[in-house]
Amino acid sequence: MAIRSSEAIVLNRIPLGDTSLLVTVYARAFGKVKLVARGARRPKSRMASSLQPLRVITVSFNHRENRELQNLSKVEAGPYFRRIGEDLTKVGYASAVCELVNRLVLGEEPGEQLFGLIFRTLEAIDQLSADACEMLFWRFQIEFADVYGTGPEFSACLGCGERPEEATVRFSPSLGGILCRDCQAQDGEAMQLSLGTTRLLSRVREMPLEHLPRLKPVGMSRREIQRAIRAFYLYQLDDGRELKSLKFLESIEEDGQERKP
Ligand SMILES: [Zn+2]
Repeated sequence: MAIRSSEAIVLNRIPLGDTSLLVTVYARAFGKVKLVARGARRPKSRMASSLQPLRVITVSFNHRENRELQNLSKVEAGPYFRRIGEDLTKVGYASAVCELVNRLVLGEEPGEQLFGLIFRTLEAIDQLSADACEMLFWRFQIEFADVYGTGPEFSACLGCGERPEEATVRFSPSLGGILCRDCQAQDGEAMQLSLGTTRLLSRVREMPLEHLPRLKPVGMSRREIQRAIRAFYLYQLDDGRELKSLKFLESIEEDGQERKP
Protein backbone atom coordinates (compact mmCIF):
# COMPACT_ATOMS: atom_id res chain seq x y z
CA MET A 1 0.00 0.00 0.00
CA ALA A 2 1.39 3.38 -0.96
CA ILE A 3 0.19 6.87 -0.15
CA ARG A 4 -0.59 8.78 -3.32
CA SER A 5 -1.25 12.45 -3.59
CA SER A 6 -2.45 14.62 -6.47
CA GLU A 7 -4.32 17.72 -7.46
CA ALA A 8 -7.79 16.65 -8.61
CA ILE A 9 -11.14 17.95 -9.83
CA VAL A 10 -14.30 16.56 -8.23
CA LEU A 11 -16.53 15.11 -10.94
CA ASN A 12 -19.29 13.60 -8.88
CA ARG A 13 -20.24 12.48 -5.40
CA ILE A 14 -22.91 10.21 -3.97
CA PRO A 15 -23.80 9.19 -0.41
CA LEU A 16 -22.30 5.91 0.75
CA GLY A 17 -23.68 4.14 3.81
CA ASP A 18 -24.92 6.35 6.66
CA THR A 19 -22.06 8.79 7.00
CA SER A 20 -19.69 8.47 4.06
CA LEU A 21 -19.34 9.76 0.51
CA LEU A 22 -18.22 8.07 -2.68
CA VAL A 23 -16.35 10.78 -4.59
CA THR A 24 -15.17 10.45 -8.18
CA VAL A 25 -12.30 12.75 -9.10
CA TYR A 26 -10.09 13.36 -12.10
CA ALA A 27 -6.56 13.51 -10.70
CA ARG A 28 -3.72 15.24 -12.53
CA ALA A 29 -1.34 12.38 -11.75
CA PHE A 30 -3.64 9.35 -11.97
CA GLY A 31 -6.69 10.07 -14.10
CA LYS A 32 -10.10 8.99 -12.83
CA VAL A 33 -10.15 7.71 -9.26
CA LYS A 34 -13.07 6.72 -7.02
CA LEU A 35 -12.49 7.64 -3.40
CA VAL A 36 -14.33 6.69 -0.25
CA ALA A 37 -14.50 9.61 2.19
CA ARG A 38 -15.32 7.91 5.47
CA GLY A 39 -17.42 9.96 7.87
CA ALA A 40 -17.58 12.92 5.46
CA ARG A 41 -21.31 13.33 6.08
CA ARG A 42 -20.96 13.50 9.87
CA PRO A 43 -21.90 16.97 11.14
CA LYS A 44 -18.40 17.80 12.36
CA SER A 45 -16.59 16.63 9.22
CA ARG A 46 -14.73 19.36 7.37
CA MET A 47 -14.27 17.21 4.29
CA ALA A 48 -17.75 17.54 2.81
CA SER A 49 -17.48 21.18 1.72
CA SER A 50 -14.30 20.51 -0.30
CA LEU A 51 -15.70 17.39 -1.89
CA GLN A 52 -18.34 19.11 -4.02
CA PRO A 53 -18.46 18.70 -7.78
CA LEU A 54 -16.36 21.26 -9.74
CA ARG A 55 -14.04 21.86 -6.76
CA VAL A 56 -10.29 21.67 -7.29
CA ILE A 57 -8.64 19.87 -4.38
CA THR A 58 -5.50 17.99 -3.44
CA VAL A 59 -6.28 14.44 -2.38
CA SER A 60 -4.16 11.89 -0.55
CA PHE A 61 -5.22 8.28 -0.52
CA ASN A 62 -3.90 4.83 0.29
CA HIS A 63 -3.53 3.19 -3.06
CA ARG A 64 -4.39 -0.48 -3.24
CA GLU A 65 -3.72 -2.32 -6.48
CA ASN A 66 -6.71 -3.80 -8.27
CA ARG A 67 -9.26 -2.08 -6.06
CA GLU A 68 -12.02 -0.05 -7.65
CA LEU A 69 -12.42 2.16 -4.57
CA GLN A 70 -9.57 3.84 -2.73
CA ASN A 71 -9.68 5.25 0.79
CA LEU A 72 -9.34 9.01 0.93
CA SER A 73 -7.09 9.99 3.83
CA LYS A 74 -6.68 13.75 3.38
CA VAL A 75 -8.16 16.56 1.31
CA GLU A 76 -6.99 20.16 0.88
CA ALA A 77 -9.05 22.82 -0.87
CA GLY A 78 -7.57 24.43 -4.00
CA PRO A 79 -8.76 27.13 -6.46
CA TYR A 80 -12.51 27.68 -6.40
CA PHE A 81 -14.59 28.70 -9.43
CA ARG A 82 -16.96 30.90 -7.46
CA ARG A 83 -18.79 32.56 -10.36
CA ILE A 84 -19.93 29.24 -11.86
CA GLY A 85 -22.32 28.77 -8.93
CA GLU A 86 -23.94 32.17 -9.56
CA ASP A 87 -25.41 31.26 -12.95
CA LEU A 88 -27.55 28.23 -13.85
CA THR A 89 -26.23 28.13 -17.43
CA LYS A 90 -22.66 28.04 -16.16
CA VAL A 91 -23.53 25.32 -13.65
CA GLY A 92 -25.16 23.29 -16.45
CA TYR A 93 -22.20 23.46 -18.85
CA ALA A 94 -19.59 22.95 -16.12
CA SER A 95 -21.57 19.90 -14.94
CA ALA A 96 -21.75 18.62 -18.53
CA VAL A 97 -17.93 18.77 -18.72
CA CYS A 98 -17.61 16.69 -15.54
CA GLU A 99 -20.37 14.28 -16.57
CA LEU A 100 -18.77 13.62 -19.96
CA VAL A 101 -15.37 12.93 -18.38
CA ASN A 102 -16.96 10.65 -15.80
CA ARG A 103 -18.86 8.72 -18.47
CA LEU A 104 -16.05 8.36 -21.00
CA VAL A 105 -12.92 7.91 -18.88
CA LEU A 106 -12.87 4.39 -17.55
CA GLY A 107 -10.20 4.56 -14.87
CA GLU A 108 -6.63 5.47 -14.08
CA GLU A 109 -4.46 6.93 -16.85
CA PRO A 110 -1.76 9.59 -17.19
CA GLY A 111 -3.97 12.56 -16.44
CA GLU A 112 -1.86 15.65 -17.07
CA GLN A 113 -3.32 16.61 -20.46
CA LEU A 114 -7.00 16.03 -19.69
CA PHE A 115 -6.69 17.58 -16.23
CA GLY A 116 -5.32 20.73 -17.87
CA LEU A 117 -8.15 20.77 -20.39
CA ILE A 118 -10.86 20.35 -17.73
CA PHE A 119 -9.25 23.02 -15.55
CA ARG A 120 -8.92 25.55 -18.41
CA THR A 121 -12.51 24.93 -19.50
CA LEU A 122 -13.95 25.40 -15.99
CA GLU A 123 -11.82 28.50 -15.52
CA ALA A 124 -13.12 29.97 -18.80
CA ILE A 125 -16.74 29.11 -17.88
CA ASP A 126 -16.13 30.89 -14.58
CA GLN A 127 -14.60 34.01 -16.14
CA LEU A 128 -16.37 34.51 -19.49
CA SER A 129 -20.01 35.41 -20.01
CA ALA A 130 -22.73 32.77 -19.78
CA ASP A 131 -23.41 33.30 -23.51
CA ALA A 132 -19.98 31.86 -24.32
CA CYS A 133 -20.57 28.63 -22.37
CA GLU A 134 -22.09 26.67 -25.23
CA MET A 135 -19.07 27.39 -27.45
CA LEU A 136 -16.72 26.57 -24.60
CA PHE A 137 -18.48 23.22 -24.29
CA TRP A 138 -18.17 22.56 -28.04
CA ARG A 139 -14.49 23.42 -27.82
CA PHE A 140 -14.08 21.16 -24.79
CA GLN A 141 -15.70 18.25 -26.61
CA ILE A 142 -13.47 18.64 -29.67
CA GLU A 143 -10.30 18.88 -27.54
CA PHE A 144 -11.43 16.02 -25.31
CA ALA A 145 -11.60 13.76 -28.36
CA ASP A 146 -8.23 15.16 -29.53
CA VAL A 147 -6.62 13.99 -26.24
CA TYR A 148 -7.45 10.41 -27.22
CA GLY A 149 -6.47 10.91 -30.86
CA THR A 150 -10.04 10.64 -32.12
CA GLY A 151 -10.84 14.33 -32.57
CA PRO A 152 -13.30 15.08 -35.38
CA GLU A 153 -11.97 16.40 -38.72
CA PHE A 154 -13.77 19.49 -40.04
CA SER A 155 -11.44 20.90 -42.71
CA ALA A 156 -10.48 18.04 -45.04
CA CYS A 157 -12.60 15.20 -46.41
CA LEU A 158 -11.94 11.90 -44.62
CA GLY A 159 -12.25 10.02 -47.91
CA CYS A 160 -9.96 11.88 -50.31
CA GLY A 161 -8.18 14.38 -48.08
CA GLU A 162 -9.28 17.34 -50.23
CA ARG A 163 -10.77 20.52 -48.81
CA PRO A 164 -14.39 20.51 -50.01
CA GLU A 165 -15.56 23.52 -52.02
CA GLU A 166 -19.27 22.69 -52.34
CA ALA A 167 -21.79 24.60 -50.19
CA THR A 168 -22.81 21.57 -48.14
CA VAL A 169 -20.81 18.53 -47.06
CA ARG A 170 -21.69 15.52 -44.90
CA PHE A 171 -20.55 14.90 -41.35
CA SER A 172 -20.14 11.29 -40.30
CA PRO A 173 -20.41 10.82 -36.52
CA SER A 174 -19.13 7.25 -36.74
CA LEU A 175 -16.10 8.07 -38.94
CA GLY A 176 -15.52 11.32 -37.02
CA GLY A 177 -15.29 13.87 -39.80
CA ILE A 178 -16.59 15.39 -42.99
CA LEU A 179 -17.08 13.77 -46.40
CA CYS A 180 -17.19 15.61 -49.74
CA ARG A 181 -19.83 14.89 -52.39
CA ASP A 182 -17.62 12.31 -54.14
CA CYS A 183 -16.94 10.41 -50.91
CA GLN A 184 -20.28 10.74 -49.11
CA ALA A 185 -21.26 7.16 -50.00
CA GLN A 186 -18.74 6.01 -47.37
CA ASP A 187 -21.39 6.69 -44.72
CA GLY A 188 -25.03 6.64 -45.83
CA GLU A 189 -26.10 8.03 -42.45
CA ALA A 190 -23.82 11.07 -42.48
CA MET A 191 -25.64 14.34 -41.78
CA GLN A 192 -25.65 17.53 -43.83
CA LEU A 193 -23.42 20.35 -42.68
CA SER A 194 -22.98 23.64 -44.51
CA LEU A 195 -19.42 24.52 -45.47
CA GLY A 196 -19.76 27.71 -43.40
CA THR A 197 -20.51 25.62 -40.32
CA THR A 198 -17.45 23.42 -40.84
CA ARG A 199 -15.31 26.57 -41.08
CA LEU A 200 -16.87 27.89 -37.88
CA LEU A 201 -16.09 24.59 -36.15
CA SER A 202 -12.45 24.85 -37.26
CA ARG A 203 -12.32 28.32 -35.69
CA VAL A 204 -13.97 27.05 -32.47
CA ARG A 205 -11.16 24.49 -32.31
CA GLU A 206 -8.27 26.88 -32.99
CA MET A 207 -9.15 30.21 -31.36
CA PRO A 208 -7.72 31.19 -27.97
CA LEU A 209 -10.46 30.41 -25.41
CA GLU A 210 -10.85 34.03 -24.34
CA HIS A 211 -11.63 35.06 -27.95
CA LEU A 212 -14.45 32.51 -28.37
CA PRO A 213 -17.15 35.02 -27.30
CA ARG A 214 -16.38 36.95 -30.55
CA LEU A 215 -17.95 34.13 -32.55
CA LYS A 216 -21.71 34.44 -32.58
CA PRO A 217 -23.14 31.26 -34.10
CA VAL A 218 -26.86 31.69 -34.59
CA GLY A 219 -29.76 29.94 -36.29
CA MET A 220 -28.81 27.18 -38.69
CA SER A 221 -25.10 27.13 -37.82
CA ARG A 222 -25.80 26.73 -34.14
CA ARG A 223 -28.31 23.94 -34.71
CA GLU A 224 -26.00 22.14 -37.13
CA ILE A 225 -23.12 22.26 -34.66
CA GLN A 226 -25.35 21.08 -31.80
CA ARG A 227 -26.57 18.14 -33.88
CA ALA A 228 -23.13 17.17 -35.22
CA ILE A 229 -21.31 17.25 -31.88
CA ARG A 230 -24.17 15.55 -30.05
CA ALA A 231 -24.27 12.75 -32.66
CA PHE A 232 -20.48 12.38 -32.51
CA TYR A 233 -20.60 11.95 -28.73
CA LEU A 234 -23.65 9.72 -28.66
CA TYR A 235 -21.61 7.47 -30.93
CA GLN A 236 -18.74 7.49 -28.40
CA LEU A 237 -21.00 6.87 -25.38
CA ASP A 238 -21.58 3.11 -25.49
CA ASP A 239 -25.11 3.19 -24.18
CA GLY A 240 -26.15 6.18 -26.33
CA ARG A 241 -27.72 7.91 -23.31
CA GLU A 242 -27.84 11.72 -23.43
CA LEU A 243 -26.01 13.71 -20.78
CA LYS A 244 -28.26 14.65 -17.85
CA SER A 245 -26.64 18.09 -17.70
CA LEU A 246 -27.64 18.81 -21.33
CA LYS A 247 -31.26 17.92 -20.60
CA PHE A 248 -31.09 20.33 -17.66
CA LEU A 249 -29.72 23.06 -19.95
CA GLU A 250 -32.49 22.46 -22.49
CA SER A 251 -35.08 22.85 -19.76
CA ILE A 252 -33.67 26.20 -18.56
CA GLU A 253 -33.40 27.43 -22.16
CA GLU A 254 -37.06 26.56 -22.75
CA ASP A 255 -38.03 28.34 -19.51
CA GLY A 256 -36.11 31.41 -20.68
CA GLN A 257 -37.94 31.43 -24.03
CA GLU A 258 -41.33 31.11 -22.35
CA ARG A 259 -40.60 34.11 -20.18
CA LYS A 260 -39.71 36.31 -23.15
CA PRO A 261 -42.69 38.43 -24.28
ZN1 LIG B 1 -13.71 13.34 -50.54
